Amino acid sequence: MEIDGVDITLITSSRLVKFMRKIGINKRLLGITLGSTIRWGGAPKDVTQWFLAHEFCHVLQYQKMGFFKFYWTYLTGLLKTSYHTHPMEIEAHDYGLANGPRMVTYLGPLAKIDK
Ligand SMILES: [Zn+2]
Repeated sequence: MEIDGVDITLITSSRLVKFMRKIGINKRLLGITLGSTIRWGGAPKDVTQWFLAHEFCHVLQYQKMGFFKFYWTYLTGLLKTSYHTHPMEIEAHDYGLANGPRMVTYLGPLAKIDK
C-alpha cells in the first residue's frame, strides 16, 4: 500500500499484537508500527480510518527521525510521561483525527471511522 508516496505494509490479525495483549504489555492494544510496517490486531474489515492515519504518522516520524532517534525518543518519552501524554502519541492522535477521513482511499468507503 502506498500513502502519500510512502510505501507501507499493513498486516491485519497480527500475531505480534495478539501476543503483546496476551502477555499483558497492553491488553487493549489496537496495533503497533515498526518502521513502515503497521500491524493491526483485528480483522481486516475492522481497521479504522483513525488507526491507519495514526499509525501512518508513526511511519512518518520514523522516516524523519531514523531508527535510533525514533526508538530512543519514544522509549525514553514513555519513562518521562504516559502513553497518552507522550508528545509523539499526541502528534499521531491529532494526525489521526485530521487525516482519518482521507484513509477511505486506502480502506474503502465502508471503513470504520473511530478507534
Ligand atoms: Zn501511536
